[in-house]
Amino acid sequence: MNKKLPKIAVFPGSFDPITKGHIDLVTRACSVFDKIIVAVGVNSQKKYLFSLEERLRWLELVFADNDQVKVGHFEGLTVNYCKEVDAHFLLRGLRNASDFDYEKTISQLNTIIGDNVETVFLISKPEYSHISSTIVREIIKGKGDVSAFVPSIISSELNTQNT
Ligand code: ADP
Repeated sequence: MNKKLPKIAVFPGSFDPITKGHIDLVTRACSVFDKIIVAVGVNSQKKYLFSLEERLRWLELVFADNDQVKVGHFEGLTVNYCKEVDAHFLLRGLRNASDFDYEKTISQLNTIIGDNVETVFLISKPEYSHISSTIVREIIKGKGDVSAFVPSIISSELNTQNT
């Protein structure tokens, strides 16, 4: 008997913080995969604006109503985490040519070092392709309004902190 295995994808990133661009990508990918694990990759050398706990809490809140989406975090190689959670797919977004150049190399390396892991790319919708967590962090540091770029749960929490 050949039971079809569920298609599980890991969507790795820093999510510092999660943006409307990330959310759109995950929502669209729900028609491609049975389960998506949005996973925060922890790099001890990297400086983050928001703590891991805060980023995970926001991810849990944002995807609370979506049964297909789980939240996780990992240290080390993404392909090792894929093995741990039994995922054979990596989900990544492409906004522009520089995303492509970077992602192409990583994807090719992951095919070599991973155990049967394919990267699936979704092109960002035009209305989200200008959004990046980097830009959002700069606006937050400058005390600007990020409500056009992040889910309302995050912008309202940030506004409360600013008042
Ligand atoms: P990283 O630290 O790996 O760059 P990010 O949290 O910035 O992680 O992004 C994770 C993934 O989400 C990447 O594949 C990135 O291309 C994608 N992504 C980021 N912003 C957007 C967006 N606005 N639209 C579509 N995909 C996006």
